[in-house]
This record gives sequence, C-alpha cells and structure tokens, in this order.
Amino acid sequence: LPSVAIVGRPNVGKSTLVNRFLGRREAVVEDLPGVTRDRVSYSASWSGRSFLVVDTGGWEPDARGLQQAVADQAERAMAAVDAIVLVVDATVGPTATDEAVARVLRRAKVPVLLAANKVDSERAEADAAALWSLGLGEPHPVSAAHGRGAGDLLDEVLKVLPERTGVAAPSGGPRRVALVGKPNVGKSSLLNKLAGHERSVVDNVAGTTVDPVDELIELDGQTWLFVDTAGLRRKVRTASGHEYYASLRTRSALEAAEVAILLIDASEPLTEQDLRVLGLIVETGRALVIVFNKWDLVDEERRLTLDREIDRELSRVPWASRVNISAMTGRAVGKLVPALDEALASWDKRIGTGQLNNWIKDIVAANPPPVRGGRQPRIMFATQAATRPPTFVLFTTGFLEAGYRRFLERRLREEFGFHGSPVRINVRVRD
Ligand code: GDP
Repeated sequence: LPSVAIVGRPNVGKSTLVNRFLGRREAVVEDLPGVTRDRVSYSASWSGRSFLVVDTGGWEPDARGLQQAVADQAERAMAAVDAIVLVVDATVGPTATDEAVARVLRRAKVPVLLAANKVDSERAEADAAALWSLGLGEPHPVSAAHGRGAGDLLDEVLKVLPERTGVAAPSGGPRRVALVGKPNVGKSSLLNKLAGHERSVVDNVAGTTVDPVDELIELDGQTWLFVDTAGLRRKVRTASGHEYYASLRTRSALEAAEVAILLIDASEPLTEQDLRVLGLIVETGRALVIVFNKWDLVDEERRLTLDREIDRELSRVPWASRVNISAMTGRAVGKLVPALDEALASWDKRIGTGQLNNWIKDIVAANPPPVRGGRQPRIMFATQAATRPPTFVLFTTGFLEAGYRRFLERRLREEFGFHGSPVRINVRVRD
C-alpha cells in the first residue's frame, strides 16, 4: 500500500489528525514525553482507496534536542514513505522547529503537504496564510480536533499518492517477487548475480507498469519482476537504516509481491530479525521460498546446528520450500526458479468443490472431530473460497479445535500438495 507519514513537532495535533484520517472517534493519544506507542502505522481508506498512515509521534527527543530529533524523524520518514504531511500549529505560527523541519522537507523527493492545524473557524483561516513562509507551498487549513477541512486534506493526499496496482493476475505479465531478509544476508549480491546472468531489463512488457524501483529480470526464459529493489541497488543505509522503516519497506514490498524469497545467512545462527521478517511474510500470506545463503561458509558442524535451528525456529512454516545457495560463487542459484514456480503454482491452486467434499467426507469418517461439550461437530460442507493464498471455508455444526484444524491442513496438503504456499482454513459454525 502507498504510505503517508504525518510529521511535526510535539503538540501540533499529529495524533489527532491521524485519528481523523482513520475515521476514529476514540480519545486522542497525547504527545506526552515518555509516551511511546508501539504501533505507528495504520491502514486507512478514503474515497475507496487504501493507504497506510504512519504516525511519527511518540518518539522522544534525544540528547541532541527537540529540533534535531524532529528533523531526523522527518528525514527518516522522507526515505521510507510515498508522501508526507507536515503538521504545523496555525495558532502559533511557524516556530524555529517548524522551520528546521521544513528545511529538511524541502529536499524531499516525495510530495509534501503542509497542514495548518487548529484552524477551527473560517475566521482563523487568516492564521494559516502565515505558513506560506515555510516554503512548502499552500498551507491546507484543518481542524484535526473538529474535523474541519480534513476531507479536503485527504483528497489532496490521495492526489499525490501513487496508485499501486497490487498483485498482478496470474496471466497478466511477469510474476512478482519480493527479495527480503535482514541486512547483510546477501540480498544485493543475489540480485546482482541474477541480473548479471542474462541482463534483459526491458521496461515495457505488455500489461505492466514498472515502478522505477522495481526491476525486470529474465531467468530461465521467464521474466520476473523483483519489487522494490531500489534500496538493494543503491544501499541507502543512511537515514532509512532505522529498524521500523526497514520493516515498513519489507511489508510494502511483500504486499506488492506474490512470492517472497526470504534470504537467511546460513553461516550464522538464526536471529530475531530473521524471524520478524518471516512473521511479516506469514501475515501477508505470500508464497515463500526460504533461501539459505553463504553456503560456501557452511561446514559439516554448522550444517548440523543449522538443522536444529530450522527445526526449532522455522516450525511454523513447514510448508516453505528451501534452497541452499551461495550468491558469491553462484552455487545452486539455478534451483531458485523451479522453487519459485512450484510455490506460485501452489499459491494459485484451486481445488474443485466436488473433489474437496469427497475428500473431507473420507477424512471425517476415519477421523471424526473431537467431541466438545458432549456434542460431535459435523463438517457439512467445504469450499475453497479464494486462491492466492488458497483459503478454505468449512461449514460445521460446532467448533473445531485448533489441533484438529492443523490435522486437516496437514492432510489437505498431503492430498492436494501446496508446497511453498500458506493455506488458510476458516470455520463457519452454523447452529
Ligand atoms: P544485503 O544487505 O542483504 O544486500 O547484503 P549484501 O549483498 O550487501 O551482502 C553482505 C555481505 O555478505 C557482503 O560482504 C557480501 O560480499 C557477502 N556475501 C553475500 N553473499 C555471500 C555468499 O554467498 N557467500 C559469502 N561468503 N559472502 C557473501
């Protein structure tokens, strides 16, 4: 999803504006020093379009002072989002901090909108005019607290946000891949290796608009779109190295992709960061190929410990394909395409309703769901409601325990094969 960050110094009403954007009525989070919010990005929609709102509030000014902290925050936001709204308190007028932030934002490559907040009445609109001096164009008067002008501001935000097409249809152009993983696992090295093979970066394949940050790479005679590779190419490690933005970026790459390559450094122990990226992949429901890189550094002993780490840490994705490569030597890089193909075929797969119900009848006859509250739940009907990822709905007469649902998923995978793709099973209880 395209994203917009709300920046500004404390107490100008950023959180109120964020809540307003989200259409919430709930109490406003204050910009109190020491209040750190754990969630700072929210999905919102307006006029039928969805986007992410990133609330940059709640970060404490550090030793270098408020002005620097707010400027740094703007700098980080600039590198990570598609548009920025700078919120200024129109009743106060531009302060030195506002000016410092505006100076940073004038260099932004993404569009910046200036919100003149606390304009609660028509009479107060004159206050907003003073903010032209910030050099960020027209101040948009709003009252975040009362809602005045918020709709117009959202209209402006939508005008500057890029339209993202989302995932391509199976028949529509190249398949979309997100190459993700923590820093230094070898993402750039792999990308260079792949692109270097047969460099055929054409930019107009029928039916696709290629974002400037995406890259078309031909592998085994097939064209693949690697999404959001700009960061991998240019190594913008300065301001965007911030953990939170790295994960925002990963999430948006995953949302734009159909399949993820999760790159893991096989020569080092698995880390929290690897698992966090895995968590994002699971959440977004993308097909998955786990690629263990730096295999040239893996000896017999490391191999054994790695196996144990995989058993322990990657047990939530037993279905993921795995490939061991060396981006440096090129070892086994050719195995990537077959793994991607297989994962995507599973992700797209649809099982006919007749076939599915015959199968479930047999399973349930041999292994009925456990009795709960003295009642034996029956599964009356099953259907595949969606693909990408495959999503099944079971209509039952009672609750199915998690253990039994896992059992069904395992058997479903054995029967129909969904290697490389997550499978979702939803249960609808009918009385
Ligand atoms: P990124 O941050 O994920 O893009 O990682 P880079 O591609 O920049 O790689 C980080 C470091 O690991 C660099 O020094 C690479 O040369 C090194 N590297 C990448 N792949 C391999 C590999 O397969 N084997 C070895 N030995 N080193 C590698």
